[in-house]
Amino acid sequence: MIQSEPRKATTEEVVAELRRREAFVMVSHVKPDGDTLGAGLALGLALRALGKRVHYFQQDPVPRNLRFLPDADRVARELPADLPADALWVFCDMSDTARAGEFLPPLERENVLDIDHHLGNSHFGALNYVLSDECSTGTCVLRLLRPLGTKITPEIATCLLTTIMTDTGGFMHSNTTAEVLRISGELMDLGADRDEITERIFANKRLAATRLLGAALETLRLEEDGKFCWSLVDDAMLARFGADGEDTEEIIGHLRAIEGVDVAALFKAYDGDVRVSLRSSGRVNVQSAAGRLGGGGHFRASGLTFNGSAEAALAAVREALLAEGL
Ligand code: 5GP
Ligand code: MN
Repeated sequence: MIQSEPRKATTEEVVAELRRREAFVMVSHVKPDGDTLGAGLALGLALRALGKRVHYFQQDPVPRNLRFLPDADRVARELPADLPADALWVFCDMSDTARAGEFLPPLERENVLDIDHHLGNSHFGALNYVLSDECSTGTCVLRLLRPLGTKITPEIATCLLTTIMTDTGGFMHSNTTAEVLRISGELMDLGADRDEITERIFANKRLAATRLLGAALETLRLEEDGKFCWSLVDDAMLARFGADGEDTEEIIGHLRAIEGVDVAALFKAYDGDVRVSLRSSGRVNVQSAAGRLGGGGHFRASGLTFNGSAEAALAAVREALLAEGL
């Protein structure tokens, strides 16, 4: 039986628990990305190959650019009525359960496995497999698959390479270590389709997304001697181009890439709230800055939801960044 004190779990403990349970619910976070989804799908595929029963819970729909992932069509908000009470709920890529959204049913801690690579993970599971040196949650899952004794099929390899390519920004971010490149090569040898991942995730933008990008770049602002760059996307801009939230993904990278910029912020004031994405070039810790406002993430990439207007969000974010040394 797994113990109920929150603490880090070893690979052996997690593998034993995966073997012991018969039914699973893989949980991904709201506004899902390739890491949360790819990690859950990869582990789900491996567990199904062991004859286990696997379901998926995800509050938001699968984004267009991730629908190619194997088993993505099994991911939903609804769960079967006959779900066993001792199903293990496996949270992937979340520092706390709130990231799974408001429709998550109440759970007993003993039925929760937390697999993640965020430094600020709150250890909300009975078992917390939190490896903060890993580039993605998918590579945490990969560490479980070999001892679990399942074959890494081309489908599983594609899911895992997607997690890596998502969280390293296509092998561009500082978490792209030599080991990450070696693992990626192994996954390609096992049949991961790098071409398809690149095409679907990085080179398949809707025209609306590119037009929206143009508008967001045109209205960007530079502050703090050019060290802070921000832009805003609101409902009116989305409507103008026939775009939606999925079309905003690329914008922030362009803000961060401007010469001299230490931190970029994108204020996303649509669909009823103000969400903020933060990216750092490495000098300022945006995980801590987001943490000051109830969010979180990584040193160089973080986010938060702000309770208030976009103007108030800008003032609060600027203050948090200055407190972190911007
Ligand atoms: P994005 O800007 O792509 O939405 O998020 C960047 C990173 O910040 C995510 O990978 C995630 O780790 C983190 N993040 C984004 N939004 C939130 C949030 O509301 N709360 C927490 N704790 N982390 C977030
Ligand atoms: Mn991740």
